[in-house]
Amino acid sequence: NADAAMYRAKELGKNNVQFYAQEMNASLEEKLALMEGLRKAVDNDELRLVYQPKVDLASGQVFGVEALLRWHHPERGMVRPDHFIPLAEESGSIVAIGEWVLREACRQARRWQDAGVAPLVVSVNVSPRQFDDRRLVARVADALRDAGLAARWLELEVTESLIMRDVQQAIDKMRELEGMGIGLSIDDFGTGYSSLAALKSFPISRLKIDKSFVRDLAHSSDDQAIARAIISLSHQLQMRVIAEGVETEQQRAFLAQYGCDEMQGYLFSKPVPPEDIPALLARQDAAA
Ligand code: C2E
Ligand code: MG
Ligand code: MG
Ligand code: MG
Repeated sequence: NADAAMYRAKELGKNNVQFYAQEMNASLEEKLALMEGLRKAVDNDELRLVYQPKVDLASGQVFGVEALLRWHHPERGMVRPDHFIPLAEESGSIVAIGEWVLREACRQARRWQDAGVAPLVVSVNVSPRQFDDRRLVARVADALRDAGLAARWLELEVTESLIMRDVQQAIDKMRELEGMGIGLSIDDFGTGYSSLAALKSFPISRLKIDKSFVRDLAHSSDDQAIARAIISLSHQLQMRVIAEGVETEQQRAFLAQYGCDEMQGYLFSKPVPPEDIPALLARQDAAA
């Protein structure tokens, strides 16, 4: 990015060099300010989780939810996770933030169970630095114990690039988590560089087709081929397969036709605050 800015600056002439230097400074300051804010976000109670239903395509029933993080910044309002997770990852605050997410998601799953809402598998996104934490497995065990939640109701979502950095370390850690009864899934599948040979060694229960392949599914024969290949790969490896970012009936119909097991997306529901989940499930039961 800095390279691109310098290139533009050179192209535009000497006067503009200063302008672009200022622009870069502003974004660095902005970045540092956000990082500083993130460091205090947990203590200042600025983080919230919203939950997006995951639907079984055959039955149309919600079987789980994905916890998605929201940061309500005191001055900036809502900051999107795509904007702040990379900063938290870079600064290291992701470890504390990730721990908060994990504990809160487990507590919420337990609250729904206590309220008599159908038991739901809650998925939590785990970032690379959090995964590398020596104490990850212990932290997960603590979060489950403190919440009084059985491990089978928790799933962790990791990305391909995360597990492919150090395959053996990832396999070992994932086997430990799997041994506790926790589900593991690969998020954004198809966007990273998975070694198919390594893939079969991971104790993965689910692949998630990235939404970039779902978006143009109705028109793009390439995306159709990719989606079908991921569905078939998942099934050959005895995994379930879920599509993210499903927004239209056409996309749903295509995925259903080719045997995709589950879906998640605005077609069914946007991510919602936890208090909206019981009504959402009740509406579904009434419709069935
Ligand atoms: P992700 O885990 O792949 O989550 C899917 C993203 O797609 C979410 O964006 C979700 O709101 C959005 N989405 C869901 N349905 C649709 C749809 O039908 N159409 C479109 N266009 N988008 C849809 P969100 O909530 O902004 O999160 C973005 C990313 O931030 C997540 O991608 C995940 O990588 C990361 N993230 C979110 N929460 C956490 C967290 O607690 N910890 C970590 N480490 N990462 C998180
Ligand atoms: Mg995810
Ligand atoms: Mg995803
Ligand atoms: Mg994604």
